[in-house]
Amino acid sequence: MESYNSFNVAQKQILDAAKILNLDAATIDLLSWPQNEVKFTIPVRMDNGSVKIFHAWRIRYNTARGPAKGGIRFHPDETVDTIRALACWMTWKTAVVDLPLGGGKGGVLCDPKSMSLRELENLSRGYIRGVAEHLGIDKDIPAPDVYTNPQTMVWMMDEYETIVHRHQPGVLTDKPLQVGGTQGRRDATARGGVVTVGEACKILGVNPKGKYAIQGFGNAGQRAALLHQELLGGGTLVAVSDSRGAIYNPKGFNPKELVTYKLTSGSIVGFPGSAPISHDDVLEADVEVLYPAALENSISERNASKIKAKIVCELANGPTTPEADEILYNNRVHVIPDILASAGGVTVSYFEMVQDSYSFFWDEDVVHQRLDQKLTKAYHSVQEAIKEKKVHPRLAAMIVGVARVAEACKLRGWV
Ligand code: GLU
Repeated sequence: MESYNSFNVAQKQILDAAKILNLDAATIDLLSWPQNEVKFTIPVRMDNGSVKIFHAWRIRYNTARGPAKGGIRFHPDETVDTIRALACWMTWKTAVVDLPLGGGKGGVLCDPKSMSLRELENLSRGYIRGVAEHLGIDKDIPAPDVYTNPQTMVWMMDEYETIVHRHQPGVLTDKPLQVGGTQGRRDATARGGVVTVGEACKILGVNPKGKYAIQGFGNAGQRAALLHQELLGGGTLVAVSDSRGAIYNPKGFNPKELVTYKLTSGSIVGFPGSAPISHDDVLEADVEVLYPAALENSISERNASKIKAKIVCELANGPTTPEADEILYNNRVHVIPDILASAGGVTVSYFEMVQDSYSFFWDEDVVHQRLDQKLTKAYHSVQEAIKEKKVHPRLAAMIVGVARVAEACKLRGWV
């Protein structure tokens, strides 16, 4: 992976959208920086008795349209700028799907794979103690992200409720069902992406039952493997990667068996009937649809020209660099940008907040139907911007999101 600074990328995207929207200098300046940043340290007693100090952040990027919303990552390469970029992208993401929310993100610099469950619980509770005064259902609502999950959310919610002395389940989303979670959250990010792929296939005349590949096999990648077939009526999954390796089978994998294998062995590597390939081979596979579902900047000018997929559905945040965007656009690859393709997760998070606030929970089909509606509408509003402004899909999605946030800032009299 090249050493891109994701926040520089995010700021450049804002400038590009602002130029087309004719935004004034103060609005551009306001939208180019986080509103609020909290940096703190978390002392954790480790299993061997020693105390380790972890560095952590929570950033509220913009709250003009509503309270900040976005995940918390536990990652060994976390920096303030990765979190700034991710918080920034959350702001446009919630706006593109028209949720009454702003954008935020948090992170801890740590290596979660080398930590025990008890150490992770201590870290999660310490995170909340460090940041509780800045959170709240009407202020900032975290969720899981890379290497955090519903269990992390329950520990965090429990710590928060202990501090404020009242039930407040909506302060974190993607919780298990027993403690205020919603139906349909586990599938939400992938489902949203697959719904947009279905719309793109109709417009472009691409066969949704052709081949597809998935880069990254965490929650979003796993669910996309299953949902692509379930929602689009077929398709052959030929190439998959995770952080440990990549595999190929021209006849196609059984997604269910592959998910079970990953969950039991910890990786897809060695799945029966698969041939090992390189990470780049997955991105460059001869498929109709490619789902990047790993980390930032994996599609760059180094490999973009080799991508053969007709549709790239970005389930990861920031997987494509600006140079790669131009190359893909010129090669007529239809990119469904992250702030649209991965917006299903935060959309169902919003549904979870709504249900928590009136303590009445919807059936799964209601969640699915409302999610599908939101994502289909967002896909078409981005399509309209592509046509009207004659720009590539990421810029079009940015134009939709940035325009909505800029308008809210103006209405409030901030600029
Ligand atoms: N971490 C997810 C994202 O990047 C979900 C955020 C949320 O639900 O708040 O979109």
